[in-house]
Amino acid sequence: LIAFLLYLFYLVAPIGQLVNGGVELQQGLAALKRIKEIEDLPAEPAGVVPHEESTPIGVEFRDVVFRYGDDRPIVHNGVTFEVPAGGLTALVGPSGAGKSTVFALLERFYDHQDGRILVGGRDIRDWPLGELRAALGYVEQDAPVLAGTLRENLLFAAQDATEDELRSVIARTRLDDLVARLPDGLETPVGHRGVLLSGGERQRVAIARALLRKPRLLLLDEATSQLDAVNELRLREVIAEVAAETTVLVIAHRLSTVTGADRIVVMEGGTVRAVGRHDELVGEDELYRELAATQFLAS
Ligand code: ADP
Ligand code: MG
Repeated sequence: LIAFLLYLFYLVAPIGQLVNGGVELQQGLAALKRIKEIEDLPAEPAGVVPHEESTPIGVEFRDVVFRYGDDRPIVHNGVTFEVPAGGLTALVGPSGAGKSTVFALLERFYDHQDGRILVGGRDIRDWPLGELRAALGYVEQDAPVLAGTLRENLLFAAQDATEDELRSVIARTRLDDLVARLPDGLETPVGHRGVLLSGGERQRVAIARALLRKPRLLLLDEATSQLDAVNELRLREVIAEVAAETTVLVIAHRLSTVTGADRIVVMEGGTVRAVGRHDELVGEDELYRELAATQFLAS
């Protein structure tokens, strides 16, 4: 329950930044929408003791059918793929293919209508919601930097993390340089009233925030914006390092992410059209070849 409340807090937090309009307003509205969606889901059964396990878990979609509403078009039209426990699996495909919807279903912002979703070998509907969300780390596309200091940004969903854990995650997400550059280190206010972070730094702060909750499966919806070469290299290192210790499922928007993936799932129009490694898919799948040629950035 505590994890769930923290999660709600996580969703509400961006609303505090509404004053700045524009992007923040959209984020606040998106958060509100998600709260509404969560309220619509069945309540967590009482008395469930959360597992303290931290071993990586995999995911399986079997013929999943999903539409956002009865009067809405089908978004997943029999989606089947497997994400083994541990390692890096990438989801790629053109815009509208249904990639982000995979994450929405895994977080149970929505329930699928047909087929099965297994998380850690267990039907997703059999997971208490709080336990499921505690097991998953979710880094949304263009995740916001919240008002407050860098430390608050990193710890707000993991208040009980130790200083050692914080330092270790900062090192693993290549944020040491940022901490060193900020005038007051971790205590420096960041975001729109503080020091502005680059796109690459924002993304790694969001990854660090998720890692501090010790997820058994990290869901990462990459930012679509360009990263400079240094930030791109750092992101690649971070993803590889995290994938060495837990499961990472990334919606990839850059070539440098997929070339190191153990498995790439190519989605198009609500189905999976190919699965393989980069070199295999370049040889076998025309759509994949096109996406690779445009560096995936269009999606
Ligand atoms: P991708 O991430 O591959 O670009 P999405 O999963 O975001 O694709 O979207 C797949 C389809 O579902 C699109 O047609 C999109 O318009 C629709 N869609 C996505 N999110 C929602 C939502 N919250 N409500 C209704 N339709 C949605
Ligand atoms: Mg998307």
